This record gives sequence, C-alpha cells and structure tokens, in this order.
Amino acid sequence: MFVDLDIENCSVLLCGEATRTERVALKFAQATEVLRFNRVEDMRAPGTPVGLVVLCVSDEREAQKWRAAVLSSGIGAPSIVDTEVPAESQGEVFLIGAGPGDPGLMTRHALEVLSQADVVLLDHLAPYQDLPRWAPHAEIIDVGKIPGKHRVPQREIDQLMVRYALQGKKVARLKGGDPYVFGRGAEELYVCEKEGIPVKVFSGVTSSISLPAMAGVPLTLRGVSHMFTVVSAHQKLTDSELDQLSGLLKDGGTVSILMGVKTLPHTIAGLLERGVRPDMPMVTVQDGFRAHQREYFSTVGTCLENYDQLKPPAVTTIGNVCAAVGENREELMGKAFETH
Ligand code: SAH
Repeated sequence: MFVDLDIENCSVLLCGEATRTERVALKFAQATEVLRFNRVEDMRAPGTPVGLVVLCVSDEREAQKWRAAVLSSGIGAPSIVDTEVPAESQGEVFLIGAGPGDPGLMTRHALEVLSQADVVLLDHLAPYQDLPRWAPHAEIIDVGKIPGKHRVPQREIDQLMVRYALQGKKVARLKGGDPYVFGRGAEELYVCEKEGIPVKVFSGVTSSISLPAMAGVPLTLRGVSHMFTVVSAHQKLTDSELDQLSGLLKDGGTVSILMGVKTLPHTIAGLLERGVRPDMPMVTVQDGFRAHQREYFSTVGTCLENYDQLKPPAVTTIGNVCAAVGENREELMGKAFETH
C-alpha cells in the first residue's frame, strides 16, 4: 500500500506494538531512517524530515491513541499518517505437501488452501498441470525450474515467500511429497517465523512410501518387516550410516532411499561389504506417477547391471518386502499369515 511513496530522503516512523513495527520495517529498507515507537510516551519528532508515519495497529482504538501522540509530538503537517494492514488481511504462508505427482494424491486440505492463494511458489516434483484450475486467483511461479541446470537458490525462494507474505498475500508453497521429508519445510517455516509471518503446514503423501506402494511393495509386512527407514543419499552415505542400514536390512527391515541414483554404486558396495545378502530383493521406481514411470525390480547383487538406464528422480526400496512382487510372493505372504 505504500509502494508509490518516495521515502528515500526522509524518515519513516513506525508506531505500535514491537512485533508489528518490526515486520513493517522490512518494507522500508530504502528510507533514510526508520524509527520505531512501541510506546506512545516515547513518541518524538526526529532530526530528519518525516515522510511517513505508519500506524502498525490492529484496531481503531489503538490507532486513535497513536494519532493523538503524533499530533502532539510536533512532527508537523507534511507527515502522512497511514495504517498498517489489519490483522485479518495480513499475508500468510501455506506449506503444502502436494504428494508424489498424481493430482489424485493431493489432500483436500491442499486443494482448499490453493483455491485461496494469491501466489503459488511451485516446487520441482509437485503436480502442476491443474494448478490454474486449483489456484484460479494466483500468480504461479515455478521455482523448481532448472534454468541452465540451476534451480532457483533456496535463499531466493525464501525471499520471494517472505516478500509476498509481507505484501499481505496468501502464499502457497507447493512441495513434492511431504514438506517435512527432505523438503526443507521446517527451514522455510523458520524463515517465515523470524519475519513474524504466520505459517500453516499441510502434510502430503511422501514418495518414500507411495512409490514402492505403486510398484506393489508394502514397506511393512507382518512377520517380514516391522521397521523401515527413509534415507537421503544425496551425499555418499557414511560408514556409520551404511553400518546402520545393513543392520536394519539384516534384521528384516526395509530401507527407502531418496535422491540416491548418483550414489547408488557406493551405497550398494557398502551394503554388500557389510554382509547384506546379494539376493536381497529391491525395487527402484523412477519418475513415479508420471506417464513414463519405470520400475526396476532386481536384487542388491544385480541392481547395477542396468545402472546406466537409471535416471533421477527415483526412489529405491531395499528389503525382503520387495519379494511381494515376483515369484517369491506366495512364500512371502505365507510368512505374513503364519503369525495370524
Ligand atoms: N518431500 C519429498 C521428497 C523430496 S526429495 C517426498 O516426501 O516425497 C526429492 C526426492 O524424492 C527425489 O530425488 C526422489 O528420490 C524422490 N521423489 C519424489 N517424488 C518422486 C517421483 N514422483 N518419482 C521419483 N522420485 C521421486
């Protein structure tokens, strides 16, 4: 609301409660000086000319109190007195898990908040085809694009999110899968929190479970696997991580690996070295829920034979449960029913 005012050569006075004035201060980075008054008794005219007095208040009673203080402070006529956006039209951020790519796996909550959004910041891997229909009023910004192979840096995404929210907009941050599974959801929430921006988090269906499921593999199965781990292999796994994963697999658990295509040879060598059976079944689902989805069933011992065909994004699931598909299915399901 203040964007057209020339405030470069003057002071801006922000009046009101500390958290409000702090948030509003971000809008006036260009002003010569930004003074904040959190108590009416501290109100005074500064040395530089005052271009703007902003009342950062939530109701009319508080506004009247501050107007009176401004008038009696001797600031003089040229000042403009305005009010900060009322609480109900303040911006906010929705951190939305959009699922692994199939629009059918978006939650009803996700669709409902998208319909209210003014801006959508779209992530790599989030479903996007129907966005103009889901978010009919929104400006849609694809921050997951890979211009010249580089995605928009996280810092810029954070800045965009904050800037729009401080302009009073409802910002939908649409993320693939679940925002709290390797989705930087908690970090983005923290960035907003520091700016006093309210955030709501909407869980989504994570690829770590839904991609193997799509291929017919349950991560747990009675009598076979009663634990699973989701691991990021964006960086090569450490010796200690490989020790733990091998232990888990040997105890019958299941491991789902995300961001692990590049490092797969290292991961597999590490598991075999630690005594994981070469005939341990596994599946990699590539481009899940896309038209070109591919499923590669193999074993720990054979999975690298066709490694050159494998391309990210993909989720690799290792564990006895992967025999739920294939010739050993009867035997595996037999185990599940033995314990009934
Ligand atoms: N928050 C997401 C994960 C983000 S990390 C979630 O909960 O699913 C990105 C990684 O997720 C990719 O490298 C890949 O390993 C996996 N992934 C997510 N969606 C995928 C898809 N549709 N197909 C294949 N892999 C996917």
